[in-house]
Amino acid sequence: YEHLVASDPEVFAAVDNELRRQRSSIELIASENFVSMAVMEAVGSPLTNKYAEGLPGKRYYGGCWAVDVVEDLARERAKRLFDAGFANVQPHSGAQANYAALAALAQPGDTILGMALDNGGHLTHGSPANFSGKLYNVVSYGVDEKTELIDMDAVEALAREHSPKVIIAGASAYPRIIDFARFAEIAHAVGAYLMVDMAHIAGLVATGRHPSPVPHADVVTTTTHKTLRGPRGGLILTNDPDLAKKVDSAVFPGSQGGPLEHVIAGKAVAFGEALAPEFAAYTDAILVNARALGRGMESRGLRLVSGGTDNHLLLVDLTAAGDVTGKDAERALDEVGITVNKNTIPGEKRSPFVTSGIRVGSAAATTRGFSERECERIGELIGDVVTNLGDEGVTERVSFEVRELLDAHPLYPEL
Ligand code: PLP
Repeated sequence: YEHLVASDPEVFAAVDNELRRQRSSIELIASENFVSMAVMEAVGSPLTNKYAEGLPGKRYYGGCWAVDVVEDLARERAKRLFDAGFANVQPHSGAQANYAALAALAQPGDTILGMALDNGGHLTHGSPANFSGKLYNVVSYGVDEKTELIDMDAVEALAREHSPKVIIAGASAYPRIIDFARFAEIAHAVGAYLMVDMAHIAGLVATGRHPSPVPHADVVTTTTHKTLRGPRGGLILTNDPDLAKKVDSAVFPGSQGGPLEHVIAGKAVAFGEALAPEFAAYTDAILVNARALGRGMESRGLRLVSGGTDNHLLLVDLTAAGDVTGKDAERALDEVGITVNKNTIPGEKRSPFVTSGIRVGSAAATTRGFSERECERIGELIGDVVTNLGDEGVTERVSFEVRELLDAHPLYPEL
């Protein structure tokens, strides 16, 4: 960072502080990860200077021959990784990908059926605060009160009743396998498109650790920065050539200008990493570590929504642990160096700013190198903090142990 230090010490100080923060806490936010140095170098490359509106070989700007190679590598690798016929790697983010995918599939005013935010869905699946809720007529499904699994019979009944143009499957806080085949059956029986947002589980899908939506969905969207371990960004896949054309034009010129070719270079590198055999072992470790975190927390009396996890994340219901709020738990865990986020739970009675739960994910901690045994211990420590809020002795003991765990797994020693 020699140039940044010299030319802008204020920004450098903030960057340096963020690196320190990442190093000095156990990162359990389920939507985060740590990219490789190769991805970081690609994102920090001179490609940030290049305008390249259009697609490889069909640009509105000259001088695109080098970025064309990069974008083609990203598209080809994405297709290979997910066994898809078409990929658009230009969406700047997951929300942008969902905007473009919905624009390709529906018209403003059409009905869409998505998972409710407070049941684990994402803002872009129909929240009134988001474009999806403002542009489309939204019907929402959720989880069954008892099993806390997606209520597929209710999805089917809602689909029959409302005849949506698009059904959206996928979630931000759902710890179980999603049955994409059943979703497709329901969607196609009522003449709806199925759009799957696999943002959280994309890394697991890439290695077959979660069933792929690609053979079932009309369009699949994802972020590239969660379990997939790439730079922040979005990606859209489809096997339908007509929808592919619509997706391309919904991204550009429909909703974006010039693509971020430096980020697309980072995506290409990350997809290459995900195609390598080591990534399968990495995703296995994500699953093992998520279950270990769950065992640790359960051993301290915390209740896991749906009773456990099939993927990289756990949703913890704190009402069974002295009715601690998600907000207080998040703050107390922050204090000992464990980063999670508060999250609503099914049947939530508190506001989204307070909540009765926390969401815990294993992808970033697995990248950092934490073992199954260590993750079980981290789960126990979370339980200790949450069930002893305000106990200074516990805070001190856990902080000490967290520091030992962190020291055993240095983050970005190269930096
Ligand atoms: N879709 C899902 C399921 C997500 O969980 C998220 C983000 O957490 C997004 C989309 C949005 O991604 P971004 O923050 O890149 O816009």
